[in-house]
Amino acid sequence: MLRLLIFGWLVHLPAVSAAVEFAAPRQVDERRAAQVGLRKIVGRHLWLYTDLRPSDAVDSLPVVFDAAVPLWAEYFQVDMMQLRNWRMQGFLIQDRAKFAAIGLLPKENPEFTTGFSIGNELWLVEQPSDYFRRHLLLHEGTHGFMAKYSRDTGQSGDTGPGWYKEGMAELMGTHRWHDGKLRLRVMPASRAAVPMWGRIKLVREAYRAGVSLDLPAIMNFNKRRAFSTNEYAWCWAFCQFLDSHPRWQAKFHQLPKHVGEQRFNKRFRHDMREEWPELLIEWRAFVAALDYGYDNERMAMQHRSISPVTEKATTTIAADRGWQSTGWQLQAGQEYQVTAKGRYQIAHDGAPWPCEPGGVTLKYHEGYPLGLLLGAWRSTANHGFSEPIAIGLAARLKPSDDVVLYLRVNDSPAQLSDNRGTLSVSIRPVAD
Ligand SMILES: [Zn+2]
Repeated sequence: MLRLLIFGWLVHLPAVSAAVEFAAPRQVDERRAAQVGLRKIVGRHLWLYTDLRPSDAVDSLPVVFDAAVPLWAEYFQVDMMQLRNWRMQGFLIQDRAKFAAIGLLPKENPEFTTGFSIGNELWLVEQPSDYFRRHLLLHEGTHGFMAKYSRDTGQSGDTGPGWYKEGMAELMGTHRWHDGKLRLRVMPASRAAVPMWGRIKLVREAYRAGVSLDLPAIMNFNKRRAFSTNEYAWCWAFCQFLDSHPRWQAKFHQLPKHVGEQRFNKRFRHDMREEWPELLIEWRAFVAALDYGYDNERMAMQHRSISPVTEKATTTIAADRGWQSTGWQLQAGQEYQVTAKGRYQIAHDGAPWPCEPGGVTLKYHEGYPLGLLLGAWRSTANHGFSEPIAIGLAARLKPSDDVVLYLRVNDSPAQLSDNRGTLSVSIRPVAD
């Protein structure tokens, strides 16, 4: 059954037939809590019990939580008036025994490893990184907020299939906290900005090892067992991809309305039925290029209507965008000559490089010269999207399937915005 749930695309998770019931937060005996060495940090929307010594990072957690509430409210379109009395109770734990001694661990999951939440309560195991401690708080807080949202909107209290429930918690967990200001749903700019988080690294490693996951596999993660860090990484990546993609974010932002529905995945597939082939292709291209600071708006693919290449054709490619369709349909077994010209500018790590389609051979990104013209094909038969190949100033292509050619210049997906200019690219069939 488990195999079917994980790998069977047509098999959906068992339905949640009744509303999910949550107990009210437990009453904490403050005197006994103090006796075992716990203290209470009070915010408006979070009361946090901890055995950690006072520090700015720990004691500001309720302030961070309070700053998240209006951001969650905005995303889920909840009136803040409805939240004025909403509060979660949290436990930040260094020594589990102290919490166990007075019954403050979750009965449902006393062995949780990092974080856990149910109803309006959450638990966090102390982390060595200030970023990741806050991340966990926001992750578990998102679960609490979504559970309340689900109940308050007349839904079951369920918060979606595993990919959505955990992906949203991770999406809202990736944050920036600076000068008392909080931003959620932040694409981390660098590894140093998110110590211990590691989701991008896991996806990149999986891609390089040839074990990337496709969307149906992610959508069928089984949430009735603890997620692996790999599963968290894929759920985050999928939600981040949809949330920031210019073409799909509007539909993605409608999903909370259905979060308690049994047929959430089926509905999502149905809503996306027309774009599904593009979604699969763009997901594969996203995974292939994912990196810190990935600019999804600029990297979003540009598709166009296609026609077979029977004579010379020319198109323009922008240096500051991701994959752009040429609209050229290439026939299996036919050879084509592609040539490119133009001068444009690639800015990389703050330095502008004047560039031609052969690239800047002093600087490399992902194994190719910076600014080099890259190609990839989309199969017209099976929604496959190839690995990038070098085109440069000229190349001969002979696809083994019918394909559509896509082009872009080689640069970090985080550094497209300061590129300038265009290339002119031509193609012609080569006579036998
Ligand atoms: Zn979670």
